[in-house]
Amino acid sequence: MTAATIALLPGDGIGPEIVDEARKCLEVGLARAGRTARFPEALVGGRAIDLTGSALPPATLEAVDGADAVLLGAVGGPKWDAPDAKVRPEQGLLALRRHLGVWANLRPVKPFPELADATPLKPERLAGVDLLCIRELTGGLYFGEPKGRTPLDGGGVRAVDTLVYTDVEIRRVVTLAFRLAAQRRGKVTSIDKANVLESSRLWRQLATEIGRGFPDVALEHQLVDSAAMRLITHPSSFDVIVTENMFGDILTDEAAVLAGSLGLLPSASLGDGPRGLYEPIHGSAPDIAGQGIANPIGTILSAAMLARHSLDADAVARRIEDAVARALADGCRTADLGGRMSTAAMGAAIRERMEG
Ligand code: NAD
Repeated sequence: MTAATIALLPGDGIGPEIVDEARKCLEVGLARAGRTARFPEALVGGRAIDLTGSALPPATLEAVDGADAVLLGAVGGPKWDAPDAKVRPEQGLLALRRHLGVWANLRPVKPFPELADATPLKPERLAGVDLLCIRELTGGLYFGEPKGRTPLDGGGVRAVDTLVYTDVEIRRVVTLAFRLAAQRRGKVTSIDKANVLESSRLWRQLATEIGRGFPDVALEHQLVDSAAMRLITHPSSFDVIVTENMFGDILTDEAAVLAGSLGLLPSASLGDGPRGLYEPIHGSAPDIAGQGIANPIGTILSAAMLARHSLDADAVARRIEDAVARALADGCRTADLGGRMSTAAMGAAIRERMEG
């Protein structure tokens, strides 16, 4: 088997510290599976602006075009936050998602029982929670045209955003949800606002049609408002959640609370082919950058998702995930989890448990 190519985009703040640990875990996992990988590194975000004037320079596009997958740390920080800045780090991330054509964002949430104290929910509410949120990433209200402001006759102003979905955009993300649910506990919850929105009625109609092709997967529809409550009151009742862009933006952050620390959660953004973009859900944490104390687990678990979805290496993904679970069960804790371990020590503790 040829060596995999994984483009590393560490970005800003704690990005370089956590991506380094994730790369080492991936290397160990792939080596155990008799595989090798190259890890070309490229610039994105604030550092890219400082060094090249662009948040996503051409050399970075070249690196990701030649890669099987992209592992990103985070972008941004106060240095690039000036309100009159012409280029912003986040533009690099949005342009990268567009360039890669990734239209689905996956966020698994499976709280670690040892960390039940770290979440604001009662431990009994968290028992058995193991859900996968799939958010449509490139359609809906955030991209619909027309948008903008127009002055009103006689003063005042009118602002418009447009919520648009095509059948193709809905079908591909809902089909992905069914495919992944078939490999899990066999249940899809499609979340919409079909009592009010036409785009949601189309979404619901297509989800029902697609569901007929997956007889072993149960489908339920739920309105977004009651789904938001159920995520907190009965989170273990979900398996795969699929929803449109804005509802997903909000619900995935709500679901993240179930896990305790922001530093723990991974994500994957996928498109038509196997190539994907993998990153932790948190930002560049400028308040702790450079101190070597960031929790690398969200990035390490993102690397596991990369192995599963882009390298067809499910065994590598499971080896990484099991090692993370064992490290936490053994009491390994970075500062965000109330411990004293450094980023590097946590990474090493996980790799030690991958060797077994
Ligand atoms: P943040 O996620 O960076 O940090 C929020 C809090 O969580 C901070 O106290 C931070 O120290 C802590 N934290 C985050 N990740 C951690 C980790 N791995 N280990 C330990 N603690 C961790 O969010 P923010 O402070 O709102 O944003 C900081 C910068 O990151 C901003 O410039 C923002 O635009 C950017 N950002 C980038 C992304 C991305 O690259 N995808 C996402 C969100 C925010």
